[in-house]
Amino acid sequence: MASRIEVIRKSVLAKNDRAADENREVLRRRGACMMNLLGGAGCGKTSLLERLLPRLAKDLRVGVLEGDLATTRDAERIAAVGAPVVQLLTEGGCHLTAALVRGGLERLPVDELDLIVVENVGNCVCPTNFDLGEHARLSMLSAAEGDDKPAKYAHLFQTADAVVISKMDLAEAARFNVDRAAQDIRVVNPHAPIFRTSFTLASSFEGLETWLRGCIAAARRPPGDRGANRRVLDPLLA
Ligand code: MG
Ligand code: ZN
Repeated sequence: MASRIEVIRKSVLAKNDRAADENREVLRRRGACMMNLLGGAGCGKTSLLERLLPRLAKDLRVGVLEGDLATTRDAERIAAVGAPVVQLLTEGGCHLTAALVRGGLERLPVDELDLIVVENVGNCVCPTNFDLGEHARLSMLSAAEGDDKPAKYAHLFQTADAVVISKMDLAEAARFNVDRAAQDIRVVNPHAPIFRTSFTLASSFEGLETWLRGCIAAARRPPGDRGANRRVLDPLLA
């Protein structure tokens, strides 16, 4: 019985992997970078974009695909900061698939964009298993969620190219030990930069902005010349 379930799971993921490869090819032809933003419900993914997008918009063109189970609320927040956005509704599904993202890419002006951010469905678990064809994966944890989460949801951090620990202004009230969280992230991911942000502190987004600009530049370089952005300064190791 168990082996039969395993076969079905692999076939679903294999189909998704093929669609992700097609997305990669679409992005490569158009010279656009795509970032997959993952994290639990309420960790601050949309708020992070409300802070980052205006900074990037000074000289870059950024589009957003907003993944949610229901409503267009997050897409409305993104549209309010002036970015082209498409809401992807999973209608109860708890993760985005590469095929759904492909549909979104077809409705964005990809030729005119430097970066496409995909905000995944708020979920610490299964979105980590679905390749969307992204160049970079940014995993988020908020201080309000607790410093035990990197150990409990290790795959979210293991598969990340960079990590954001958000709501650091709430750390003391939430009794969040950032060193403990960072140590547990380091167990599964020794190299990804870890950025600490507070929505109310504009300067806390500088490091993340620099990393993201590195990803966009790397996506424009030919294959084989990538990866330099993964060695950006780690503020917790510096
Ligand atoms: Mg959101
Ligand atoms: Zn799911």
